[in-house]
Amino acid sequence: VIRLIQDAAAAAEDFFFPPACLACGDGRARMFEGGVCTRCWESIPKLAAERCEICDVPLRPPAAAIACGKCLQTPPPFEALKTAAPYAVGARKVLHAFKYRGADYLAPHLARMLASVLRDFPPVQAAVPVPATRREIREKGFFPAGELAREIAILLSIERGEDLLRKVRETDRQVGLPLPRRFENVRGAFEATAPPETVLLVDDVVTSGSTLSACAKALKRAGARFVFAAAFARALPEEN
Ligand SMILES: [Zn+2]
Ligand SMILES: [Zn+2]
Repeated sequence: VIRLIQDAAAAAEDFFFPPACLACGDGRARMFEGGVCTRCWESIPKLAAERCEICDVPLRPPAAAIACGKCLQTPPPFEALKTAAPYAVGARKVLHAFKYRGADYLAPHLARMLASVLRDFPPVQAAVPVPATRREIREKGFFPAGELAREIAILLSIERGEDLLRKVRETDRQVGLPLPRRFENVRGAFEATAPPETVLLVDDVVTSGSTLSACAKALKRAGARFVFAAAFARALPEEN
């Protein structure tokens, strides 16, 4: 019995004070936030100073315009997107720990970073995660966009909107598809029900924005007037 109690105490200690960083595995690092060491948090790269006001892609300095050529030519169906970090090594490591090592207690820390870049947005009424189908959630065992959206809703004191948008059919994985195919792949894949006037769409990583666009269209078809978007990391299409 004493053995069992000792084991349980050790397990509890490992849960609250993980023995090693979930992102880099360093067992000597001592300062942890959500199971990740200070050095790993600090290795999350900073965003470029000049970014598109609409889709948040880095603009080549000196930036003459406030939006990128693509957004000026064909504005996306969402009002604007903000991201917290480029999807480069440091951010990738921490997100990987979040998604694949069961570190759902990382969600509040990632959500706090993301919430801090949303200050320029007008007030939003609900945080809606980019949905996954039941099969996708079962296969991954985790729904990172949902975890982030839930924490964002708590931080901003707004409605949790995971029931407002559904993925109604399976799609091919976007990673590896050429850009034009990505928009076709997700077209009509989402359906919204009675969203409020102003919605915040939440995802973990954004690449082409095609999934966000399909979601924003579905929300607007169902009556939303403004759709803002937030994703923790921004990958550029060629970085996949
Ligand atoms: Zn670490
Ligand atoms: Zn843009």
